[in-house]
Amino acid sequence: MKATIATLPGDGIGPEVMVETLRVLDVIADKFGHDFTITEGLIGGIAIDETGNPLPDETIATCEQADAILLAAVGGPKWSDPMASVRPEQGLLKIRQHFGLFANLRPVKTYPALASHAPLRADLLEGVDILIVRELTGGVYFGQREEMNDEGSAYDTMIYSRPEVERVAHVAFRAAQKRGGKLTSVDKANVLASMRLWRKTVVEVAEDYEDVELDHLLVDACTMHLLTRPASFDVIVAGNMFGDILSDEASVLAGSLGMLPSASLGSERFGLYEPVHGSAPDIAGQGKANPIGMFLSLAMLLRYSLELEAEAVAIEEAVDAVLADGLRTADIARKGEDVATTGQFTQAVIAKLSA
Ligand code: NAD
Repeated sequence: MKATIATLPGDGIGPEVMVETLRVLDVIADKFGHDFTITEGLIGGIAIDETGNPLPDETIATCEQADAILLAAVGGPKWSDPMASVRPEQGLLKIRQHFGLFANLRPVKTYPALASHAPLRADLLEGVDILIVRELTGGVYFGQREEMNDEGSAYDTMIYSRPEVERVAHVAFRAAQKRGGKLTSVDKANVLASMRLWRKTVVEVAEDYEDVELDHLLVDACTMHLLTRPASFDVIVAGNMFGDILSDEASVLAGSLGMLPSASLGSERFGLYEPVHGSAPDIAGQGKANPIGMFLSLAMLLRYSLELEAEAVAIEEAVDAVLADGLRTADIARKGEDVATTGQFTQAVIAKLSA
């Protein structure tokens, strides 16, 4: 296959994990006989430094010509003045909006080898493999808002339209079909009108997916069930704010922020793939970054935008095998354990892929 991937390394550890990920991609191209063209663009702090704009038009043009976007991370202390009118994170919001990426997919998986790093008992974490699908461009974050500083009051409105719910529900049902066949829709239908529309619409969409078992949870109950029976979930779909909170809650199950990938998808195969972590300025430039979140983001890109399932699985299995062998970056090493650098960990993944 021929495909173009736009890479946006960004700031902090972003460029470090991007370089290693492209080494992995090279091996995949060789092994499976693909021809990937890699382009690169500026985003975030480095884009502000070089152009004054966190998402320059040239970057958008580069991404428009690609089949998918691979993004590392943006931000850092240099650009974190809250009073600044131009900030790195604006680049992220703008790129999601520009490409109509309304569904954010965050898989959370636990690794037996890392059970001691997670805050829950090991027996509860056994077999956890959840995909959270968060609606990304609607809901309370995009509703009407009014700030009344003088009066000391403010409001936000949670608005969902039927088509907004339908399209994200379809993404979640299709994902459930490819996984364990179970979907949990999360809402607050007992209190909020927008969430009653959410539930009604999800039930209607379910008619197209008779092979998927659907259940509903109120968001407050879901936060509890995620900790008491995480292994019982398959796919979870939620609106923007509830999905934001639940995906951060679920992320701790994996043991380190550095392990988690994400995909932001629109209605076409095109998507933006990025690790969940930020630019980790505290460890930037020291070879300490865990590249797994970025590798697994590449696997998602291959799966969802290029439909290369075997290639995606090859990366995921190589990461599993390296962890099972006991290799650890600093964030997932126990006291006294040997620590691999970002480059050494990558080399081990490459060796598994090449074996
Ligand atoms: P962070 O995710 O960058 O770091 C939180 C902690 O996790 C740090 O101790 C860091 O060292 C560690 N960590 C993160 N990724 C790691 C990895 N791959 N390997 C090993 N350890 C890792 O979050 P933060 O410190 O709150 O934010 C730092 C900067 O990143 C801020 O400017 C923030 O705005 C930005 N940020 C960007 C994104 C993004 O690009 N999508 C997301 C979150 C934060």
